[in-house]
Amino acid sequence: MTTLEFAPERVEPMLAEQREELLRTPGFGSLYSDHMVTARWTAGRGWHDARTGPLAAFTLHPATMALHYGQTVFEGLKAFWRPAGQRVLFRPRDHAARFARSARRMAMPELAEADFVAGVEALLRVDGAWVPSARGHSFYLRPFLIAAETHLSNRPAEEYLFAVIGSPARPAAAEPAPIRLWASPEYVRAADGGTGTIKCGGNYGGSYIAQREAAAHGCDQVVWLDARERRYVEEVGGSNLFFVEGDRLVTPPLSGTLLAGITRDSILRLAGRLGLTVAEEPVTLDGWERGCREGRITETFACGTARAVAPVGHAVTPEREWAIGDGTTGPVTRRLLNALLDVQYGQAPDEFGWLHAV
Ligand code: PLP
Repeated sequence: MTTLEFAPERVEPMLAEQREELLRTPGFGSLYSDHMVTARWTAGRGWHDARTGPLAAFTLHPATMALHYGQTVFEGLKAFWRPAGQRVLFRPRDHAARFARSARRMAMPELAEADFVAGVEALLRVDGAWVPSARGHSFYLRPFLIAAETHLSNRPAEEYLFAVIGSPARPAAAEPAPIRLWASPEYVRAADGGTGTIKCGGNYGGSYIAQREAAAHGCDQVVWLDARERRYVEEVGGSNLFFVEGDRLVTPPLSGTLLAGITRDSILRLAGRLGLTVAEEPVTLDGWERGCREGRITETFACGTARAVAPVGHAVTPEREWAIGDGTTGPVTRRLLNALLDVQYGQAPDEFGWLHAV
């Protein structure tokens, strides 16, 4: 049951012509729709002051706890265009469940699933015109929760701010270029008992130094190895990883250090429909290299909300480098990408009930 009502306070929207012009080339993450959703939580009172208002800067006291101790969590989900003014959200309840898990791990208040969904629906209802209509384009929603109490004590905050903003996004690329992955010899993303399974801000801030190292070696992203042995491949910057071995699809198990991607889960289910068998089993960096050199592993791809499915062309370590297949996008990767996009854009039946019409 929804307890929060994100009552809309409509603002003067951007002129339609100006918006249409921006929506032709939305890029990613630098354009925002007219409104935002907010709600507050206070100890002893719970959630209150839910609203949908104009997108505006926050005023934060310099001692706002989120700025010092990193109690921040977020989600990223997409909405897609449908004719006749309808829009669909992709798996919002699963994002709500992960948001609640992230909050719990960070000792923050949980937002009920129905309230999370009501919040993202409220933004989509007032800013539906910001959802681009071209296949491949989407509207990216960013719900987040931050510690909003003004205090310098090192403890969980007693006030929080929840918000949802939205940003039109470019296609997940009809023909995505294969990426190069860098296996860092030095940095790790997550260890047992840590925060690797959730989406807290610190996981990302802590990864940028390795991302820089990757760029310095001509790579696009980091492939993270396990913290204990630095042997097992876990995931990529903001995506999960899959390996294609004939008609078998392998992905690392949810070992307690990697994020349970909603796209990962979608791919696991779609794969069965495409006649592939799936396995969640550990993959070592050496095993990946050997599999590629011996021709057993023919494709590797990364997947996540932002990019859908991104082929991996090469893997690079300080000592060696190898191509996956011939370094181009393989047929299984392409089929899975299209199968996912077909569901999202309403061109294939929504057999799993992933689409949520608003
Ligand atoms: N792994 C990490 C570290 C991420 O940040 C993301 C993105 O949310 C993913 C994997 C993919 O998750 P999803 O498919 O839910 O977007």
